[in-house]
Amino acid sequence: MTTRILSSRKSIALVAHDKKKSELIEWAFYNRSTLAKHKLFATGTTGKMLETALDQPVIKFLSGPLGGDQQVGASIAEGKLDVLIFFWDPMESQPHDPDVKALLRVSATWNIPVACNRATADFLLTSPLMHEDYEAILTDYSAYLNRRLG
Ligand code: PGA
Repeated sequence: MTTRILSSRKSIALVAHDKKKSELIEWAFYNRSTLAKHKLFATGTTGKMLETALDQPVIKFLSGPLGGDQQVGASIAEGKLDVLIFFWDPMESQPHDPDVKALLRVSATWNIPVACNRATADFLLTSPLMHEDYEAILTDYSAYLNRRLG
């Protein structure tokens, strides 16, 4: 069985679409003392706003539509991120909709906790597992990796 340890100090990625940014910033500010215990990452614009609001360093990727969502996804696949808080906007289509779908897909592939709205983000952040090492069980992809082609 393959597992991955999400350490007690989590690497948390935060992303919000434009009309969801104020909600994410408000949520993050309310939870600033908890977030201060973890390492924060974000897409470009969300990250700038978070840094100002929280007075805490945020490692910033490119802006989402310019490839930032794909960078977050790649970091998840590489095991560098533990949690995704992603306030995507259900009422607007985005120029980078394929990237949004890809980010959600890769999060499911690697079994990381994901919150797509404020209620789930509250449940996630208040879980005792946020402050403990957590052993996530990964799907066994060996049959896929060892498949015979041709
Ligand atoms: P942004 O990207 O934080 O750079 O605005 C968010 C997104 O993925 O749309």
